[in-house]
Amino acid sequence: MPAPAYDETNIFAKILCGELPCHKVYEDDVAMAFMDVMPQADGHVLVLPKSPARNILDADPAMLGKLIARVQKIALAVKEALAADGLTILQYNEPAGGQTVFHLHFHIIPRWEDVELRPHTRAPEKAEVLEALRAKIAAAITQI
Ligand code: 5GP
Repeated sequence: MPAPAYDETNIFAKILCGELPCHKVYEDDVAMAFMDVMPQADGHVLVLPKSPARNILDADPAMLGKLIARVQKIALAVKEALAADGLTILQYNEPAGGQTVFHLHFHIIPRWEDVELRPHTRAPEKAEVLEALRAKIAAAITQI
């Protein structure tokens, strides 16, 4: 069965073009990163390419190489900024794989010993909490 086409009206496409707001931690010519509004842990960041791709299945491999370098950079910054013990990095593909927004993205989720992950897409976080975490992570990215 052919992969579904990229839907240009998805919510991340609207964030990328500035039509919808986000708590942005990083942006360059390849990628943007912002806070997940329903975080599975404090400091949960999403990293996505600026070019359209539904998920990893239709993504351009050359772009993926550049994108994963950004994922690493932001992962290092999240760990440093929030003194995390570790990180969980997730990437879902298609509804059966758990994907709910159909623009490719990687989840960077800081982890601390004995702190359970919260459920996926369950509870919205307060804007002021997201903003405080965003500021810490954005500052750490400038040091990486
Ligand atoms: P997926 O299930 O597609 O891998 O993950 C989509 C993620 O996007 C979820 O973790 C969800 O909390 C987050 N999300 C959904 N809508 C928005 C939004 O409007 N803004 C932001 N920043 N995150 C969103």
